Amino acid sequence: MRTRTKTVVWFDEVGKNDVGLVGGKGANLGEMTRAGIPVPPGFIVTADAYFSFLAQANLAANIKKILASLDPHDSDKLQRASAAIMTAISGVKMPEEIGKEILVAYKRMGDGPVAVRSSATAEDLPDASFAGQQSTYLNVEGETRLLEAVQDCWASLFQQRAIFYRAERGYDHLKVGIAVPVQRMVQSEVSGVLFTVDPMTGDREKILIEAAYGLGESVVSGETTPDMYVVEKRTMGIVERSVAIQPWKLVRNLRLSKNGKDANIKVDMPEAEGGKQKLTDDCIVELARLAGRIERHYGSPQDIEWAREDGRFYIVQSRPVTTLKEEAEEERGEEPVGNVLVKGSQASPGVVAGPVKVILDASEIGKVLEGDILVAEMTTPDFVPAMKRAVGIVTDRGGRTCHAAIVSRELGIPCVVGTGNATHALKTGQVVTVDGATGRVYEGDITDRFTAVKEKTYRGDLKTTTRLYVNLAEPDLADVVAKRNVDGVGLLRAEFIIARIGEHPSLVVKEGRQEEYITKLAEGLTKFAAAFHPRPVVYRTNDFKTNEYSNLKGGQEFEQFEENPMIGYRGCSRYVRESEAFRLEIEAIKRVRERYNNLWVMIPFVRTVEELAKAKKIMDDDGLSRSKDFKLWMMVEVPSNVFLLDRFLDVGIDGISIGSNDLTQLILGIDRDNSKFAEEFDERNPAVMMALESVITRCKARGVSASICGQAPSFYPDLTEKLVEWGITSVSVSPDMIERTREIIANAEERLGKAPQQ
Ligand code: PEP
Ligand code: MG
Repeated sequence: MRTRTKTVVWFDEVGKNDVGLVGGKGANLGEMTRAGIPVPPGFIVTADAYFSFLAQANLAANIKKILASLDPHDSDKLQRASAAIMTAISGVKMPEEIGKEILVAYKRMGDGPVAVRSSATAEDLPDASFAGQQSTYLNVEGETRLLEAVQDCWASLFQQRAIFYRAERGYDHLKVGIAVPVQRMVQSEVSGVLFTVDPMTGDREKILIEAAYGLGESVVSGETTPDMYVVEKRTMGIVERSVAIQPWKLVRNLRLSKNGKDANIKVDMPEAEGGKQKLTDDCIVELARLAGRIERHYGSPQDIEWAREDGRFYIVQSRPVTTLKEEAEEERGEEPVGNVLVKGSQASPGVVAGPVKVILDASEIGKVLEGDILVAEMTTPDFVPAMKRAVGIVTDRGGRTCHAAIVSRELGIPCVVGTGNATHALKTGQVVTVDGATGRVYEGDITDRFTAVKEKTYRGDLKTTTRLYVNLAEPDLADVVAKRNVDGVGLLRAEFIIARIGEHPSLVVKEGRQEEYITKLAEGLTKFAAAFHPRPVVYRTNDFKTNEYSNLKGGQEFEQFEENPMIGYRGCSRYVRESEAFRLEIEAIKRVRERYNNLWVMIPFVRTVEELAKAKKIMDDDGLSRSKDFKLWMMVEVPSNVFLLDRFLDVGIDGISIGSNDLTQLILGIDRDNSKFAEEFDERNPAVMMALESVITRCKARGVSASICGQAPSFYPDLTEKLVEWGITSVSVSPDMIERTREIIANAEERLGKAPQQ
């Protein structure tokens, strides 16, 4: 326990052990200052000052009263309570001695423009930053405005989300504190970011520096193309440089600063000026040396934001680089950056923090709120509404082609699968950080310890001869994804739409409600067909397994329990044994095609040639037959399809699409959802590759379209090159991989001398 309270401490008076007094952000600024790293100078208004303010202003009792009977789930009341407390904190006059001390410190700093930030503290809570909030005010100038900004940061502890969060966890609202770092603003002439390791190649011998004129925001946000310099650590030689022509620079708009808004303006630069090298060679080396010092201080590669003002370098932020290179498996998060609670397989990349919601049964999905981390044994199509509200997903079981993995990639949220015990090890309400790229789940919100590897920018207008399709299932995403550089949908999974309808098709048939079902299904399909028209949308007819069917309303009546649903009553065999459900889909497709003729069909999980022929006949009988604009495809996902490909093609189809998830499962004999075998489940296994090559080259020889829609090219981009080499006609990937895959295809085609598509 501290005995003497302090209102203000200077950066060099605190270090990493002072989180209780100055919060995480404050402690880090102190740590860097003490290590002699040139941080823009500043002081921190301590958590003690905040507590003393609460006591002197007699606010505690009032806050307690407002929050005592609050139901945080009642959003109107929550909003009113938050507004009342925030107004009370901002509105009351700051006690004189606190204000005086702050202003003395401000004067000592030279009273120019400052950045005022929040740094929540709570000595006994692992998730302080989450329990508090993160208000920041840039370019604050003048005594009155500074004191207001400090008070506004204090008030931000009672933003709605923060109250809700603490109430849910039973934390005492009045024990969470907040410190406020006040730091001189750097009005940088040149600024940028640097990595003490090459983030693209993972080469630790190199320092990569990016530099642009003006404020760093434009570089961090990727709006400006910066100069790039690579320095070799050993020799400090500049081994690579590219100088960009900068058309404008970002500068602070000082006139607007009084209202506390971070207002920047763009100032045009003449080409002669914008095209200069932004840092001289001497400055580049000086900065590289400084970067080396910081890396040595922290003992790990760093991602650093820097600025240069009046001939001096300043370090604005330094964070460890944890994900060195997305595509290099072996580089992924070698060193955990926090306390790992569970570990599983990487399923969808990204880092996110939030409170856990353990859901043991699909009937409980209503408990998942916006911003939660959904933790389940396994997900099924019934979980989808909750998955859309969640910011991250963690499962006990499943490999990287399981439902959770596929859906989370489509939704673009981080996901870790196959942890074995997440539903036991993680508790509802506990805050965790999910790192989808390493498969780790950490205690608390430690997102600030991660750095986003700068995303490579891809051209959005590349054309290729090989078509690039996208895998989709969620109707709400159709419009957005259709705007991107894709040639159509190579796999429209029916299951999302059908799960939304929510009823077992046999129940619908039994009760004579076919029309209602067909209308709903047609509505869902229309969203895709309309969004992508005239580009093709390949609808994969329903491939629910019996366990998934039985979750639908009425499912228990019509489905029998199976030990191994993966190889059970699924796919084409259902269409030919009980054609009524299949006929509902055919009817819906026909209706949609009356307006949108770009909707095609693909039959999944076909075991025998006869089965395919029968399914085709049902379609023909119902008036859905191949034509100039209606193509019928079959998925290749059972090894018999590979061996007997010619006979399957002889049935008369327009194309195939390789379902590499099921095909790999069946060639290697590995249940794709069994996390024990996550490592061995690898489409690059020579047996699988042999099958892919054989199928693609034979289709090419027969002039039949060959596509792929399993996760393989989304997960192993290098594999795509091989597919192009063998003559695949289209590749279908998850939305997160569109641009990258297009570039891989374009490069492969260029190498092979294929002309780009017109
Ligand atoms: C596959 O098996 O590769 C495929 C695309 O289908 P699903 O993952 O839906 O089984
Ligand atoms: Mg499949």
